[in-house]
Amino acid sequence: MTEPFHARPPVVPPAVRPAATAALVAGIGRRLPGLRLLVDPTDRESYRRDETSYAPAGLPGAVALPTTTGEVAELVRLAGEHGVPVVPRGAGTGLSGGATGIDGGLTIALTRMDRVLDIDRGDLVAVTQPGIVNATLKASVAEHGLFYPPDPASYELCTIGGNLGTNAGGLCCVKYGQTREAVLGLEVVLADGSVIRTGGRAVKDVAGYALTQLFVGSQGTLGIVTEATLRLRPAPPPRTTMLVFFPSLAAAGSAVAGLAVSGLLPVTLELMDRATIAAVDDWQELGLDREAEAMLMIESDLPAAAAAEELAAAERICAAAGSTSMVRAADAQEADWLRQARRMALRALERYGVVHMEDVGVPRARVMDLLLAIDDAARRHGVETATFGHAGDGNLHPNFVFRRDASGALPAGAEEALAAVQADVYAAALALGGTVTAEHGIGTTRREWLVRQRGEGAVGVMRAIKAALDPAGIMNPGKVL
Ligand SMILES: Cc1cc2nc3c(=O)[nH]c(=O)nc-3n(C[C@H](O)[C@H](O)[C@H](O)COP(=O)(O)OP(=O)(O)OC[C@H]3O[C@@H](n4cnc5c(N)ncnc54)[C@H](O)[C@@H]3O)c2cc1C
Repeated sequence: MTEPFHARPPVVPPAVRPAATAALVAGIGRRLPGLRLLVDPTDRESYRRDETSYAPAGLPGAVALPTTTGEVAELVRLAGEHGVPVVPRGAGTGLSGGATGIDGGLTIALTRMDRVLDIDRGDLVAVTQPGIVNATLKASVAEHGLFYPPDPASYELCTIGGNLGTNAGGLCCVKYGQTREAVLGLEVVLADGSVIRTGGRAVKDVAGYALTQLFVGSQGTLGIVTEATLRLRPAPPPRTTMLVFFPSLAAAGSAVAGLAVSGLLPVTLELMDRATIAAVDDWQELGLDREAEAMLMIESDLPAAAAAEELAAAERICAAAGSTSMVRAADAQEADWLRQARRMALRALERYGVVHMEDVGVPRARVMDLLLAIDDAARRHGVETATFGHAGDGNLHPNFVFRRDASGALPAGAEEALAAVQADVYAAALALGGTVTAEHGIGTTRREWLVRQRGEGAVGVMRAIKAALDPAGIMNPGKVL
């Protein structure tokens, strides 16, 4: 396990009295005798962190694995009675510290609530429990000729509950939108243990405030999702895939801007810079063009002839922006390999050392400016950086890589350099009219940037909503706000 390595002081969650945790565990034993409850320290340790292995995190006092909404509601009620904070958790693949443990707190892992409750071809909806893995849901609906679009690169691991918690994005958001756009309704356990339903199966529904949209992306701070009604589409044709290489970041950024206004609607428009291309190619040996400064992966899911036209049009836009070469996947299997290689970009970089992944976003026409700002900040602060991301959405992931020496130590001054480069990249994203997080969430790792981005007034409204729904502050405290 990597030792904590962070650029800013740790977020200190509220202290939980050991007696309160012990009383809660005893209460759970009495009121929910059949529930799977982990209290052994070794078991609990594996629920301490999410994928931000470098961020500070507490050891949960207990980890509950409920199987029904009733159990979740009872757990939350009991936690409230004993004043013990609750951390909802899916697969723990989050990249902002949202599911990290709180010392002595109760982590509620939803992974055993993993059933698909209904797939309705007529209404084009699926009703599912939150613990199902994204890829499993996709496979289940595919058996009915249907398609659930949101596809985070972690889709073979992450859960629908976690996707709802973070409003996850992914590789095909550019065409189909983020998780929020795929949700029609939710069942949510609130901080007092009551259960509400929001939305429903109707595609158009404006009755009252948009609570469904409010809970999506709230990172478990307002309630626990125990069921979701998700919007499906008829399955599109298999994708046609093309890789385009560029001699400079500016040329790739210019192609992204050109594609954004072209009227084309590729299903994937992903970018990898030179360092990412090298890391992925070192690992997967795909024969990518390692001389290129950037690569775009562009895919179409239109029927074959229309897909060929769409990619030919995209190729012309890339050529006008200065692309140097292009390859098309020979068949669906080769396309799958290439897509998988892009999904493994973070893992490829992690082979080198500790990787801090950022998640900045800008309006699409400003992708070039953001790429250049990242490059400039990395050079000025001497931080090794590899950038990839969902360029079609204006969402880039600069990864700051810190290699260990033979003794396993990180370079001297790494924390200061990280803090400086992060601050410059966040400031650049905001100056370009963007965001410090496009899909991973504020969590614990970006909290101090929230006011800077949204302003005191808007964050004040967020605090008021939080106080109204969770007056005792037991739902995932220390996250987001
Ligand atoms: C290799 C890799 C690639 C990734 N690629 C992408 C990507 O392309 N796009 C993207 O958006 N993210 C990506 N991520 C980040 C991560 O996979 C997503 O944020 C994902 O949505 C987290 O799901 P999870 O089940 O792991 O949730 P967790 O990490 O367990 O939790 C995430 C948040 O949701 C909350 N939560 C979990 N379940 C519930 C629930 N039932 N009710 C309420 N709140 C809940 C948690 O409290 C936490 O705040 C990637 C991560 C990795 C490691």
